[in-house]
Amino acid sequence: MEKINALAIDTEEWFHSELLGGQRPPFFQVPEATQQVLNLLDRYQTKGTFFIVGEVAERHPELVRLIFEKGHEIGCHGFSHHPLWKLSEALFREELKRFHSVIEGILGKIPIRGFRAPSFSLDNRTKWALGVLIEYGYQYDASIFPVKLNPLYGVRGAPTQPYHISLEDVRKEDPCSPLMEFPLCPLKIGRLKIPISGGFYLRALPLPFLLWGLRRINRKQPFLLYFHPWEGYAETPRLKLSFTNRLISYYGIHSALKKLESLLNHFKFARVDQILGLR
Ligand SMILES: [Zn+2]
Repeated sequence: MEKINALAIDTEEWFHSELLGGQRPPFFQVPEATQQVLNLLDRYQTKGTFFIVGEVAERHPELVRLIFEKGHEIGCHGFSHHPLWKLSEALFREELKRFHSVIEGILGKIPIRGFRAPSFSLDNRTKWALGVLIEYGYQYDASIFPVKLNPLYGVRGAPTQPYHISLEDVRKEDPCSPLMEFPLCPLKIGRLKIPISGGFYLRALPLPFLLWGLRRINRKQPFLLYFHPWEGYAETPRLKLSFTNRLISYYGIHSALKKLESLLNHFKFARVDQILGLR
């Protein structure tokens, strides 16, 4: 039977990526960039999960309302987009409090079930975040990147399928844990693990390879595809960055939306909470 995969749209501004060095230029484009993604999902009658940055929701309440009214899941992508390693437990609690109060001000009390840490910053150094998520009623996290390829993020040895995440060790399964984890699923070839399911990897890898790799993953399990609206928006400003950061941030922006469309053509997708059976 054809697998249904999870679709996550990290709804943030073009300047939120850590690679841009924390700059906050006074130029906003998230409504236009997200509208393109919403139109595409409408065309394919597909619902996804929008992990929204709190300060984006605060500035653009009409966008949050539109996403919600279209039937997509509203998830949390932090308030300020600071990665967990830049926060303390108390500051993280404060971030969630602000996020929830902004969303409640726009939509009233709706269930927020899922969290995606900015820059995949959940690992054993920041596992304290899991307890705070449970306090706030979260049912799942989708922040574990089970491949360690860059100095910023990655949890080597973490499971690659959804699991009940241990609060003691994020790489371990604990059937009693109230929190599910939906990790990113890499393509496994022999002993190689290659991330392919979104972001820079979606932009950089050739489409035939993506299709082949994702089909290969689907033989065994669903995957979680992630995409940022700025990644598919032609007008995303290009800042002066080091060669590597420029490559990771901007490579393939012109063709990313088309690639996402091809994936919508070839695979079935749904909201993360639906795939996890939480809804
Ligand atoms: Zn992000």
